[in-house]
Amino acid sequence: MHPALYLTNTLTQQKELFEPLHPPLVGLYVCGPTVYSDVHLGNCRTFISFDLIYRYLLYLGYKVRYVRNITDAGHLEGDRDEGDDKFAKKAKLEQVEPMEIVQRYTLGFREVMQAFNTLPPSIEPTATGHISEQIEMIREIINKGYAYEVNGSVYFDVEKYRQQYNYGQLTNRLLDDLMANTRELGGQDEKHGRLDFALWINAKPEHIMRWPSPWGWGFPGWHIECSAMSSKYLGETFDIHGGGMDLKATHHTNEIAQSQACNNKPPVKYWLHTNMLTVNGVRMSKSAGNGFLPGELFTGNHPLLEKGYAPMAVRFFMLQTHYSSTLDFSNEALQASEKGYGRLMSAIRTLDGLIPSDSSTADIQALFTACEKAMSDDFNSPILIANLFEAVRIINSVKDGKEKLTAGDLADMKKLMHTFVFDVLGLTFENENDDGSLAGAMNIILDIRKEAKAKKDFSTSDRIRDELAKINIRIKDEKDGVTWYKD
Ligand code: AMP
Ligand code: ZN
Repeated sequence: MHPALYLTNTLTQQKELFEPLHPPLVGLYVCGPTVYSDVHLGNCRTFISFDLIYRYLLYLGYKVRYVRNITDAGHLEGDRDEGDDKFAKKAKLEQVEPMEIVQRYTLGFREVMQAFNTLPPSIEPTATGHISEQIEMIREIINKGYAYEVNGSVYFDVEKYRQQYNYGQLTNRLLDDLMANTRELGGQDEKHGRLDFALWINAKPEHIMRWPSPWGWGFPGWHIECSAMSSKYLGETFDIHGGGMDLKATHHTNEIAQSQACNNKPPVKYWLHTNMLTVNGVRMSKSAGNGFLPGELFTGNHPLLEKGYAPMAVRFFMLQTHYSSTLDFSNEALQASEKGYGRLMSAIRTLDGLIPSDSSTADIQALFTACEKAMSDDFNSPILIANLFEAVRIINSVKDGKEKLTAGDLADMKKLMHTFVFDVLGLTFENENDDGSLAGAMNIILDIRKEAKAKKDFSTSDRIRDELAKINIRIKDEKDGVTWYKD
């Protein structure tokens, strides 16, 4: 029996018991990238957080349908329907078809997701592939009286919606507060109310990405795609909807309003929001100019980077902080994570060579339960990792003869490490060609160094350390043994 799962529902701001609508099925929808440029590391943090959540739901035995969309149309520069179409602008700039932009950055996104060892979603629907579903939904919202057409564009009537439902529900904000954050309507504005938002936008003749609709040629507003695609693949009410915190106030608030108005029921039982990756306290974003691309991070080719970092060390860095807390990027923090990741992985190698004893000095079952308990408490990966470091300590102590494990406990320890390090945290050895021979050779070298030190042959032990440093392998003497990592 696994412990019951609790998660923080951002709709209620409460930690709630997870009870899926149709167990063992779970519907999970996550807002995917807008593919008009490369994803930065901040975007990756959100997708890695949901990968952890997806993996743990699978571990608990749920049959998860994970839908993560690709936004390839309809996203204007401003979140409130103003500015140019992001795809058309980029296409014009590069003198290519908008769909070439979409193709390039979709492939780039998938490559990055693979480098971080995230599992692919079950369905990856695109906005352009679901124009008719979006039109149908808009028609239904008009029929229900919650949207109106002006000059070939259709707007959602927030004022009307508010009379029946709580529009600021997700952000817990009152209308006055929401109004304070929107601009006044201009004389040219087609919207009836300041909070109204576009469901369908009339396209000017020069606009390339446009489709026929009952209201003339146009393109969908940004929010409607997620409402249309999530209800198509997961049903009118489904279990979990996720995305970054920055999507709460506008995109997700509008998604709820559209779906509720159309289907007359709340679309989502649990909302999960991940917190932001920051650089010196400022949110990483394209517009702030502080967005590292994953490629730059892997090679170290960026003025703010002291060196390159392997994708798995970066993944580990992200998982060391709970998904709901901000995470600040720094070279020091990444280097510390790199060492931690190295310690964890070398302990898994060490585990293979441990000799069983007749009795055990550590309770591996209790440690396994503690790992599950951490993850079942709102996917608490930092506490899981703290428990895994306790496992590392035990493994290194057994190797040094300071603790003992029976054959059964050694097998349980292997199961624990493989389950939580590989399956749940989604870490792998640094590259697929790594068959563990380097770690094996390092174990031999470090044993020889330990023997040399025991014989007070410090010239040999120092020589080993210095020669390894020349080939960028650093070793460190710590309380519970020696660890090593590659620079
Ligand atoms: P976009 O491509 O801008 O639609 O963003 C894709 C996802 O990345 C969304 O879920 C955003 O909330 C998320 N995101 C954007 N910036 C950051 C950041 N600095 N840290 C974490 N997630 C982010
Ligand atoms: Zn969305």
